[in-house]
Amino acid sequence: AKSEGRNRIHIFNDQIKHHNVNQIKLEEQLRHAIEYDELSLHFQPIYFVNSEDIYAVEVLLRWNSREFGQVSPRDFIPLAEETGLIVSIGEWVIYEAIRVMKKWKRQFDLPIKLFINLSSRQINHPNFTRELRRIFDITEIDPRQISFEITESMMIDNFDQGKKILGQLIDMGVKLSLDDFGTGYSSLSSLRHLPFQILKIDKSFIDDLSAVDANVAILKAIIEMAHSLDLLVVAEGIESQEQYDLVASLGVDFIQGYYTTPPLPENKIEEVFRQRTLS
Ligand code: C2E
Ligand code: CA
Ligand code: CA
Ligand code: CA
Repeated sequence: AKSEGRNRIHIFNDQIKHHNVNQIKLEEQLRHAIEYDELSLHFQPIYFVNSEDIYAVEVLLRWNSREFGQVSPRDFIPLAEETGLIVSIGEWVIYEAIRVMKKWKRQFDLPIKLFINLSSRQINHPNFTRELRRIFDITEIDPRQISFEITESMMIDNFDQGKKILGQLIDMGVKLSLDDFGTGYSSLSSLRHLPFQILKIDKSFIDDLSAVDANVAILKAIIEMAHSLDLLVVAEGIESQEQYDLVASLGVDFIQGYYTTPPLPENKIEEVFRQRTLS
């Protein structure tokens, strides 16, 4: 067992070395992703429960690297956060999302709400709120059509500072969603102390539902609690009719997941809108 242990450590070290080399290459490429025009946005509808009406769409960043091909945000977002590149990338996301939003307003004559993910490094950057105010002024969009998705883990380092920034965002007129609720960092107490309007129940929590009955009772209580705090609830990562029916019966307000519609590029999501405005 001892030699096995040593072996495992050896393999582990190799993986770390390998990992680091890749990280450096990835970082080099990520640095140029904006100027090489390798970033794009996908959009995933958030539907009213038991309805085909779209409440909003979540904006999801994609990176098609000339060197690595399609890289998952689960790999490059943490790297962008570590390196600080998330500040410029995040700003690009906001500009691009607003461009699309304005285009859709013209094209479909319906105001489409956008849910945009933010990172900790991004909101804690000293210029963040000032820059955002400038973007809203230049683009003349209605901030009420934007909801920023924030995770509780972003608040861990400095809760008071985080709370202050969230307050400034609310003052600008945007909405705030608490993302990834139920993933370990979550606590209902922060809901009382922070200005969220929307609670997004994480996929991992939904996935555990069928297996463990106690979780159904917990989720039901979370939804009731959220509603009593005037929060609307989104169930994320819904992949099947069973999951849909279950969370619908528990009283969630909105559904998001592959079961209804996966994240789609701009032209494909526009087809979804077109079908809907025609029908
Ligand atoms: P997230 O904010 O929790 O986003 C939801 C993720 O679940 C997305 O992964 C989405 O494609 C995926 N998803 C949606 N429906 C389903 C489903 O039914 N089943 C499964 N298995 N997955 C589903 P994606 O696009 O790979 O993004 C991963 C994460 O990267 C996001 O998690 C978010 O934390 C981060 N991210 C993505 N775009 C941005 C961005 O513009 N800025 C920042 N800061 N983070 C972003
Ligand atoms: Ca999100
Ligand atoms: Ca999420
Ligand atoms: Ca997330």
